[in-house]
Amino acid sequence: NLSDRLADTFTKLRSKGKLSPADVDGTVREIRRALLEADVALEVVKDFTGRIRERALGDEVNKALNPAQQVVQIVNEELIGILGGQTRRLEFAKQPPTVIMLAGLQGAGKTTLAGKLSKWLKSEGHTPMLVAADLQRPNAVTQLQVVGEQAGVPVFAPEPGNGKGDPIRVAKDAIKEANRKQYDTVIVDTAGRLGVDAELMKQAAGIRKAVDPDEVLFVIDSLIGQDAVQTARAFQDGVDFTGVVLTKLDGDSRGGAALSVASVTGRPIMFASTGEGLDDFEPFHPDRMASRILDLGDILTLIEQAQKTFDEEQALKTAEKFATDTFTLEDFLEQMQQLKNMGSIKNMLGMLPGGKNMRQQLDSFDESEITRTEAIIRSMTVQERRQPKVLNGSRRLRIAKGSGTTVTEVNALVNRFEQAAKMMKTVAKGGTPQIPGMGPI
Ligand code: GDP
Ligand code: MG
Repeated sequence: NLSDRLADTFTKLRSKGKLSPADVDGTVREIRRALLEADVALEVVKDFTGRIRERALGDEVNKALNPAQQVVQIVNEELIGILGGQTRRLEFAKQPPTVIMLAGLQGAGKTTLAGKLSKWLKSEGHTPMLVAADLQRPNAVTQLQVVGEQAGVPVFAPEPGNGKGDPIRVAKDAIKEANRKQYDTVIVDTAGRLGVDAELMKQAAGIRKAVDPDEVLFVIDSLIGQDAVQTARAFQDGVDFTGVVLTKLDGDSRGGAALSVASVTGRPIMFASTGEGLDDFEPFHPDRMASRILDLGDILTLIEQAQKTFDEEQALKTAEKFATDTFTLEDFLEQMQQLKNMGSIKNMLGMLPGGKNMRQQLDSFDESEITRTEAIIRSMTVQERRQPKVLNGSRRLRIAKGSGTTVTEVNALVNRFEQAAKMMKTVAKGGTPQIPGMGPI
């Protein structure tokens, strides 16, 4: 699968000090495939990977401690950038009511969103009103009324039996009503078609002109796939919008539409709709979507943890201690604690590309063993930790009692430490620093 493939690519790169143009091209190819699989539009993919390639061949990567890691970070950074960087909030009018108009294809989720948005605004202390300006479908007004009732928000609709009615007229009247009744936000639901349609665009543009909205939200189904770009462009040209709402993110979508729409329109994605219920709704977070699109979640978490815990400097310092035979039980304890800080070691290794071998070694090793080891070392004096050679029988007995363990366990630890130190010394002379404590456990 995709995340495995990226992990493989990442592993291949990890062992390299420098990235050759061929390495970069290989990685860019994988990213390209990942994006296409996530249904990002081809033109957007080309543009995006072009920029990644350029940056990956540049100085920031060349000079990085870990070039591969730097590339992954660049990809993530660029994705978040295109998706708008930070979460963009609704802009409220200085002079209420704030008018929010919804536009998009039929079935995109506009009416549902109207309900969600109004319920959310109400919970934030606003006094919203819904406007039924979709007079196209026979039951569209009723649908909005049902949603309004669920949200506990009033709905402005044309009188029943008033024929098809004029949505522009309804919208205008609604604003007057909002002023009269002092609602502070007005959400205008509009009609959509199954496909982009000139008459529909004209109507939406007319409503926009009539109500002069503070926000026009383009609502788009995240499952739309490769049609995202064409649809978004049509609505941008026909109505124009200030922000995007992605719906049906609870489905299988990898969210590629988000990247396509944000990229070609330059408009921020403001909300995500994640279900049919009125509460399935949240402000959009570019960083989360970036992880979803690239499936990089695990890899990025791993990098962060690895960075925090085993930074390169630390590893080199340890290697040097091994090489010069100055690695003590105190250092051993410190390493143990770092391991513990990482949370579950097995999980960590599971995330690590190529961590399978290590994981097998660790299958017999549980974290409570670290705790016991820690207890034993803590029961030692500073001198004993630094020079395990002084540990005679009576000292070992004292330590076992102090740590609630047995002399056998204390002996085992000391032996293991000595073996590890010996082995690591050999390894260190060969120049490959390894994670201490993980070898001959
Ligand atoms: P409109 O034509 O744009 O007004 O779309 P509707 O609001 O009527 O929604 C069309 C269908 O999609 C309805 O069956 C909704 O229940 C459903 N729907 C809307 N938003 C979501 C969502 O975020 N997730 C899921 N699973 N379904 C949604
Ligand atoms: Mg509708």
